[in-house]
Amino acid sequence: MVEAARELDARGLNRGTSGNVGARCDDGLLVTPSGVPARELTAQAIVRLAASGDVIGTGRPSSEWRFHRDILRARPELHAVVHVHSPFATTLACLGLDVPPFHYMIAAAGGDTIRCAPYALFGTQELSDHALAALQDRRACLLGNHGMIAAGAGLEQALALCVEVESLCEQYWRARQIGEPRHLSPEQMAEVMEKFKTYGRQAEPEPRQP
Ligand code: 13P
Ligand code: ZN
Repeated sequence: MVEAARELDARGLNRGTSGNVGARCDDGLLVTPSGVPARELTAQAIVRLAASGDVIGTGRPSSEWRFHRDILRARPELHAVVHVHSPFATTLACLGLDVPPFHYMIAAAGGDTIRCAPYALFGTQELSDHALAALQDRRACLLGNHGMIAAGAGLEQALALCVEVESLCEQYWRARQIGEPRHLSPEQMAEVMEKFKTYGRQAEPEPRQP
């Protein structure tokens, strides 16, 4: 988790104390501490929470522990969540824009759009509720006037999706500078989603002859 937080910072996806990282741990979760810049983060400072949100041990959890807890509770297939205030995703989030299927890689987030959740105050249950709704059938969403959430089966997947969504937001922003990008149809996106099921899977090696 410390490495993931540092990576988000090093890639310019977060800076200062913006953003946070959460991961499933038994029935509860681990979350980064509130208000600690990534470069000052240590493994000892990671905060453990029960499913109720009560702190196990010591530490002050991220102000966004509710959405980390709620996403992990509602989505058994997801085990890690990253939240960033990355430049391009946040720019689109400030315009309240859903990212449309302007590029086939939008399907990497699980559907044919990346939704933007309505604004709510950081650290509130309202924000968590909005995020969970925007993440329905998706692994990433924008948070209105705030930033982005990406989740995955593990920290590496959540981080990779976060990088991908930021790059898609940049491409969408660029395309909008010179025109209105053409959107792929629901059929074209469904075809991509189907192809993703086997993309990158290498064939099993042939058994060796004795
Ligand atoms: P924390 O430092 O409490 O994790 O908050 C950062 C943030 O991004 C709030 O949305
Ligand atoms: Zn935030």
